[in-house]
Amino acid sequence: MTSHPKDERTLVVVKPDGIQRALIGEIMKRYERIGLKLVALKMFVPTEKMIEEHYLLDPRWKKNVGEKAIQSYIRKGEEPPSSDPIEVGNLVVERLKRYMTSGPVIAMVWEGAHAVELVRKITGSTEPRSAEIGTIRGDFVVDSYQMADGADRAIRNLIHASGSVPEANKEIPHWFGPEEIIAYSVPHEAILYDVDMKGILG
Ligand code: ADP
Ligand code: MG
Repeated sequence: MTSHPKDERTLVVVKPDGIQRALIGEIMKRYERIGLKLVALKMFVPTEKMIEEHYLLDPRWKKNVGEKAIQSYIRKGEEPPSSDPIEVGNLVVERLKRYMTSGPVIAMVWEGAHAVELVRKITGSTEPRSAEIGTIRGDFVVDSYQMADGADRAIRNLIHASGSVPEANKEIPHWFGPEEIIAYSVPHEAILYDVDMKGILG
């Protein structure tokens, strides 16, 4: 059975800095107003084990995160602190364990057509310095690879959002049990997804 595109789900985590900056409502508003539906939500302080497992769910993530950082330095004509992506990846995991367990986070599952792609678009790219204006990371926070590396800490960018549909499908069960995700409908889904928007004139 193939599911309807509107059933796509993605994981969003408001990181500890997002909660400290009092941006919970602002962040949720952005996903809500585009028409996505919140189907799971909880607040807690994650363990280091949970964070390490989360980032290592995709075996390629460690190398990718290192390559992304190195490329960002090169694009700006700056020297990366290491040219080995795995070395950078290992450092980032350690930094993320400290960052993500430093306070409460809010984990959410958002559902709707192209949920993964739309949430990434609204969230913006990893480094706030280069995230586009209009995205959450571009509008509400300042941080960079340079500042994070200089202080041996993770980049503070307010939010985690799944990077792809396969990533979302692994991450959601890592953060939520099936009983915590609620299947329900909202009236505006008819206007977003029904073929003929039936029912407007009764
Ligand atoms: P995204 O969260 O945009 O999907 P990644 O999956 O590549 O980004 O990285 C996960 C998180 O790790 C980032 O959101 C950021 O907080 C942190 N991070 C990534 N690269 C670095 C780095 N080079 N130095 C410090 N922190 C980093
Ligand atoms: Mg990612």
